[in-house]
Amino acid sequence: MGEYVFPAQATPAVAVESGGRFPVHRIYCVGLNYADHIREFGRDPQRSPLVFFMKPADAAVANGAAIPYPPRTNNFHHEIELVVAIGRAGRGIAPAQALEHVFGYAAGNDLTRRDLQRAAKDRGEPWDVAKGFDHSAPVAAIRPATRGHPTRGRIWLSVNGETRQDSDLGQMLHDVPHLIAELSTLYTLEAGDLIFTGTPSGVGPLKPGDCLEGGVEGLEVLRNTIATPVTES
Ligand code: MN
Repeated sequence: MGEYVFPAQATPAVAVESGGRFPVHRIYCVGLNYADHIREFGRDPQRSPLVFFMKPADAAVANGAAIPYPPRTNNFHHEIELVVAIGRAGRGIAPAQALEHVFGYAAGNDLTRRDLQRAAKDRGEPWDVAKGFDHSAPVAAIRPATRGHPTRGRIWLSVNGETRQDSDLGQMLHDVPHLIAELSTLYTLEAGDLIFTGTPSGVGPLKPGDCLEGGVEGLEVLRNTIATPVTES
């Protein structure tokens, strides 16, 4: 096959609490997984189907990083989420075996260009440009699942010290085993995959200079600032 014609990009990675780095393979996301968030978008949780979408692996951003305000949006939103890190490959995984595929858990932020998402929804178009842009997936350190599988606990986000999102993992409509089972009927899950599991209500706009803190009970707190916009070049 020969050599690469130019050097390959480095593998994106996320810190692990106990040391080492988790190499990111794919980033899957779940939409509409908290009843209160579905209602804030004016939808009926009973009739809302699970939505899956993806972000590129190199959208992962380290805890503490400054995130440039992205281009082509005037409505850049935060979405605090529990992130599941997959440690063992599988497809067609049964819910009862799903947790055996989990390496660990982290707090993440599914950053969203809400105006582009609304336009895509209105036109029946894909969500990629609204969700899968540069720096759109900050993730705090992963806590290995040997320390437990969170099913209850506070999930929250504050902007400049003001609480915007405040809910509980118990409010998820589809729990982690069922998300893994369903996703593994669509894709072969691989070690290195991350799954963002949906956000509770309280999503809202960000601006340059904002300081974000977000967390899931028991996991490392995710802290990021929003930097000035990326300049056109
Ligand atoms: Mn989300």
